Amino acid sequence: MSTATVLPVIAIHGGAGTMSRASLNAGQDAAYHTALQGILLAAQDLLARGGSALDAVSLAVDLLEDCPLFNAGHGAVFTHDATHELDAAIMDGASLRAGAVACVSRVRRPLRAARAVMERSEHVLLVGAGAEAFAQACGLELVAPDYFSTGARLEQLQRALVTDATLLDHDAPALAFATPPLDESRKLGTVGAVALDVHGNLAAATSTGGMTNKRVGRVGDSPLIGAGTYADNRTAAISCTGTGEMFIRAVAAYDICARMAYAGLSLDAAAQEVVMKVLPAIGGRGGLIALDARGNLSLPFNTEGMYRGHARVGETPQTAIFA
Ligand code: ASP
Repeated sequence: MSTATVLPVIAIHGGAGTMSRASLNAGQDAAYHTALQGILLAAQDLLARGGSALDAVSLAVDLLEDCPLFNAGHGAVFTHDATHELDAAIMDGASLRAGAVACVSRVRRPLRAARAVMERSEHVLLVGAGAEAFAQACGLELVAPDYFSTGARLEQLQRALVTDATLLDHDAPALAFATPPLDESRKLGTVGAVALDVHGNLAAATSTGGMTNKRVGRVGDSPLIGAGTYADNRTAAISCTGTGEMFIRAVAAYDICARMAYAGLSLDAAAQEVVMKVLPAIGGRGGLIALDARGNLSLPFNTEGMYRGHARVGETPQTAIFA
């Protein structure tokens, strides 16, 4: 697609979940907004200089992975066995090429590994040790697994282990404890980005540590093309965050594109339908960021909040946490 009228745009999320305005003090609130704004500015600048949507989502997710406020890369949540297993995916809306990794514990930047799978292998999804060996062969940085650990995430696991299954879905309505500023245990802190570039191309990327106290070997929606991540220039680019199992069962990201393609729904109508009706009907909680090739954006969530923001080239970045 080529059009002179496309205004490039980047949108990002840092996860959705149970959080309340009251639990977030001004300093904490500012820290999230500042982190999101900095990342948006970097990606916006890349797009303004004619950079591709793929490069913009890659850069945004790189920065989100490095920020310990979010559950991806450094700061990722712990599995039940107190280890880390990270998942990531990227998709190019122009070619429908996609790449993903799952259950990696030593790749510093999982999204870069996903992109290498897309660009340097004939596969779409590599997992575990094979994915790590591939990443290393591609020259990507490997780290000791404890690189991803932070004290806050360990505490989160310890609390989750006490209440066990209650926390597996992150969304038990009445946990006995509350953890300022957000109830991290119920926060779904996956990160993601969608972008539209000056050439009219869309891309989507998602990266996550998964869910606290998940079983070792569990794979969520994020690295599954069509579930947590999808991009097609003809419809939309989407990155999801939420209770992964339900997003997988709903094939959430692809379902939005299908509703646009087959039923002629607008981006927002399709995204609202999936987030507010399809997912809740099976107990799915979370949200997503969706962008179409005309630059329309939809950022719906059915949780109390979702860290999110967007920036059109030439405009001031907008960030938000609550509705
Ligand atoms: N969707 C992610 C997963 O299930 C979790 C999240 O969004 O935080 O792995």
